[in-house]
Amino acid sequence: MAGASHSILCGRCKVPIEGPSDGNDQSVFSCPRCGVSDTRKEVLRIVAKHVEEITARAMQEGLRNSMRGNRFIKLDSKPVPKRTYKFISDFKPKF
Ligand SMILES: [Zn+2]
Repeated sequence: MAGASHSILCGRCKVPIEGPSDGNDQSVFSCPRCGVSDTRKEVLRIVAKHVEEITARAMQEGLRNSMRGNRFIKLDSKPVPKRTYKFISDFKPKF
């Protein structure tokens, strides 16, 4: 089943970035609106970090909601900090 991939967006403009689809790590991808660019390898590294963050936050929120009203379990975890990313994906974790 193809089509499981997610669009990679510029972190600032939220528009899909453009680049060659040759799968080369050194291919440069850039934002058509603001022109921010990086190699495919770096773009994927940044996007992976972003996915990690939104997944962590979604898990934490899910846990918090399921524990709400339970006075025997106290969650004192800090919210996952929100960072800014040069590139993001439109990945949405489901819990
Ligand atoms: Zn941009």
